[in-house]
Amino acid sequence: MPLVTARQLLDEAAKGSYGVGAFNVNDMEQIQAIMAAAEETKSPVIVQASRGARAFAEDRYLYHLMLAAAELHPNIPMALHQDHGNSFDTCKSAIELGFTSVMMDGSLKEDGKTPSTFEENIEVTRRVVEYAHPRGVSVEGEIGVLGGVEDGHGAGGSGLEHLTDPDQAVEFAERTGVDSLALAIGTSHGAYKFTKKPDGSVLKMDVLIAIHKRLPHTHLVMHGSSSVPKDLQDIVNKYGGKLKQTWGVPIEEIQLGIRHGVRKINVDTDCRLAITGAIRKVFAESPEKFDPRDYLKPAREAMKKVVAERMNEFGQAGHSGDYSPISLAEMAKGYQSGKLDTRPSLATSR
Ligand SMILES: [Zn+2]
Repeated sequence: MPLVTARQLLDEAAKGSYGVGAFNVNDMEQIQAIMAAAEETKSPVIVQASRGARAFAEDRYLYHLMLAAAELHPNIPMALHQDHGNSFDTCKSAIELGFTSVMMDGSLKEDGKTPSTFEENIEVTRRVVEYAHPRGVSVEGEIGVLGGVEDGHGAGGSGLEHLTDPDQAVEFAERTGVDSLALAIGTSHGAYKFTKKPDGSVLKMDVLIAIHKRLPHTHLVMHGSSSVPKDLQDIVNKYGGKLKQTWGVPIEEIQLGIRHGVRKINVDTDCRLAITGAIRKVFAESPEKFDPRDYLKPAREAMKKVVAERMNEFGQAGHSGDYSPISLAEMAKGYQSGKLDTRPSLATSR
């Protein structure tokens, strides 16, 4: 299937009351793992690349790998999404390359570390929306600041320091017209999210629920939402790794979010752990091996397994055949006519 926008996938997910996993990629094996999982579970899927991934893989390689995936999986609706764009130029270059969806993370300044002001965030995000929508490309914004650092991106800290304020979320949606909105509700990027199983004191699902009530047409996004399961940590450590014990976001909390407007769930750490555990196992058990396929194949299989699990848990499994693709040109018309407008003042009167 041609690449479609994340907006189309998320609109369909809202109709069907399920969530769509957005899995990060850096190389061919990760893309193959995701597509195999999507094929097996019949899932629509968002494949996303950070700035670090685009630099690592090189833009042209990455884009052509995604075209190959689309060609080989004609029945899977898939979007190619820029994760954490740090500036207008990063988002513009992604759109020029062929990404069908971009995140403008204006919650941080262009350095990707320093929290920005509310007005700065609105300004840069609105500029990206004004560039993207006439080209049919969807835009995710972020308000509030997540904890942790991943790929050199993040403010650090616990994730509770800059929680999203519901009033600001409504004003942000109104003044930017974003398709989807990432919220800071206590989650962090990376493996070290929580020091114990999270409860309501560190994971603020009530904030998310309050925002969904006021912004029913803006798709909500959970970042830093790997579950960091103990069995994946244990495999890494059993074969020589040194991970400190840590807790991610429990699946049941994500499922609660999905019942309250969460349509996109970002998962990266779980895939990284699955790959690393599988490679460590081969190295530890068969130190005589030196053909990269001997460890990349099990690594790819381990990632496929965790992605397929998440697809079942998020509810996107079984939905790949529900709809046909909407072209970017048609999406652009929808934005122009106001049909796709999510701004609370306009969308509620639809
Ligand atoms: Zn993120």
